Amino acid sequence: MTAYAEFHRRSIQDRDGFWAEQAQLVDWKSAPTQVCDYSNPPFAKWFVGGTTNLCHNAVDRHLKDRAGQAALIAVSTETNTERVYTFAGLHAEVQRMAAVLKDLGVQKGDRVLIYMPMIAEAAFAMLACARIGAIHSVVFGGFASGSLASRIEDSEPKVIVSADAGSRGGKVVEYKPLLDEAISLSSHKPGAVLLADRKLAAMNIVAGRDHLWGALREKHLNTVVPCEWVESTHPSYTLYTSGTTGKPKGVQRDTGGYAVALAASMKHIYCGNAGETYFSTSDIGWVVGHSYIIYGPLIAGMATIMYEGLPTRPDGGIWWSLVEKYKVTVMFSAPTAVRVLKKQDPALLTKYDLSSLRALFLAGEPLDEPTAQWISGSLKKPIIDNYWQTETGWPILGIANGVEQKASKFGSPGVPMYGYNVMLMDDAGEELVGGDKKGVVMVEGPLPPGCMQTVWRDDDRFVKTYWQKLNGKYVYSTFDWGVRDADGYYFILGRTDDVINVAGHRLGTREIEEAISSHPNISEVAVVGVADNLKGQVAVAFAVVKDASVLVDDAAHAKLEAEVMKVVDNTIGAVGRPARVRFVAVLPKTRSGKLLRRAIQAVCEGRDPGDLTTMEDPAALQQIKDLTAA
Ligand code: ATP
Ligand code: MG
Repeated sequence: MTAYAEFHRRSIQDRDGFWAEQAQLVDWKSAPTQVCDYSNPPFAKWFVGGTTNLCHNAVDRHLKDRAGQAALIAVSTETNTERVYTFAGLHAEVQRMAAVLKDLGVQKGDRVLIYMPMIAEAAFAMLACARIGAIHSVVFGGFASGSLASRIEDSEPKVIVSADAGSRGGKVVEYKPLLDEAISLSSHKPGAVLLADRKLAAMNIVAGRDHLWGALREKHLNTVVPCEWVESTHPSYTLYTSGTTGKPKGVQRDTGGYAVALAASMKHIYCGNAGETYFSTSDIGWVVGHSYIIYGPLIAGMATIMYEGLPTRPDGGIWWSLVEKYKVTVMFSAPTAVRVLKKQDPALLTKYDLSSLRALFLAGEPLDEPTAQWISGSLKKPIIDNYWQTETGWPILGIANGVEQKASKFGSPGVPMYGYNVMLMDDAGEELVGGDKKGVVMVEGPLPPGCMQTVWRDDDRFVKTYWQKLNGKYVYSTFDWGVRDADGYYFILGRTDDVINVAGHRLGTREIEEAISSHPNISEVAVVGVADNLKGQVAVAFAVVKDASVLVDDAAHAKLEAEVMKVVDNTIGAVGRPARVRFVAVLPKTRSGKLLRRAIQAVCEGRDPGDLTTMEDPAALQQIKDLTAA
């Protein structure tokens, strides 16, 4: 057995022994008395009896060795500012924020909603909540008032922390009016609103409710706020899933299990060391931002870069310039961002000294082969796909190079990570054994530390949504469809909802999309299954063309459509050939960059597309509507 296989085996078969060891990667005020309490499945309680604090582990415990080293590097190409906070500086700011939140009435267990752009104050607010045992609920700053209102309603925050405005591509996006509207729409009203004033937009201050961070901070320049030691199982935060498949689910995370899971992943998966710099290009509004902009790197004693701005402004080399400047060793991004960079001048990648960088991790959606090949060829560094969910907080599938160097396979996010007993299940609810099997990706309970505890205030929904019984045991469904090859590597084929059934043949949308995107003139594509009287379902593709100038007339459209179909015929076979290939300017995506296939499918079938609150650009869906109506 290889070193990693043994590591994984032990994490499952000697679960408690394995995780007791990992628990030593973090500081505890009092040590846990039980590693895992799984007496009430599928609910798992990790490190029961232990008390700890996330902020202590992320900040305070590093003061001894690295008080003067960089901890938080807040870069904005929107306001052209770079602020570097050392661990000591971050410690001071977090205490100021904690003191202000306490003044505004926040106590242990209270919720604080954070609706902020990617500025340092957002990190202060998250860490300050953790420090005093308050539960933060970060709402992505790009959401408008409706989405925000429903999250205020659900989390019932005592305080909301926000700002006057964000900025995107040089355009100021005002937050305050959206926040005011959201509060008026919500039946729950926060006791106070704390505002960072970036002087980007004028604010309408509501007397008695709204407070300015800058002014309150002045009162607490030297206030000491000790960490509140909380139970390991104390909720640290709630966060909504991206809403790709429907109404977002409110994920609740614990404290101790999360700290251990992140510390372990920094060591075994991301291989980041204290004193180095980590750069995740995500947003604090998403789970990657929670785990790998804020908590993970800081727990590991690394400096973390928080970036506000576009990947292409002032030019497509901006991220690489940051890698050079801050000697980034570990970088984390998403395939959607890489596709954006791929359209830029390739010379930008060789302009900077990237010698510090050891690996680029990508997650969030399937990494298609052309994108993987491009970035791997240009960067000449390991590109490591990893597969996980808001629900799990850290990778389910990946490569744990910290345990054993293992080759990646293109198109595969790798093998089950330690702690996850991953299995494939067929339609009849039976486990599929052996290699070369296709099924729903499931995880046997208990989920490892760091995963969701429950759906916020809805245990019933947690059990009913995610869990089913297999051979008398609870198994968790990822709602993703995958293949396991003979070497135990998994390939994600798409969401279970996205599986297309053409005349009895089941195909993942991903398989067809992969084939189509290998056509040299296709930059991106979404495939959906559309109801068909004859075949049950047919595949329909919507593709973005790299060079749209070739589409001069109907004949040119038809020619490209035929070419694309031919590519599918040659790679998958005629069974996968889409009934239609339509060309569009842009595809409908969530704000986190995920394809909204369910919305496209609904439109194609003339149904209501449902919850679209997380959609980026409504015009994208409109174009598809127009095309299908025509
Ligand atoms: P919702 O659950 O609300 O529909 P969502 O599933 O998009 O939204 P997230 O938790 O942000 O919300 O995304 C997790 C999903 O993203 C996974 O279940 C999977 O479908 C997809 N995903 C994440 N990483 C990868 C990856 N490396 N390869 C393929 N798919 C991935
Ligand atoms: Mg999901």
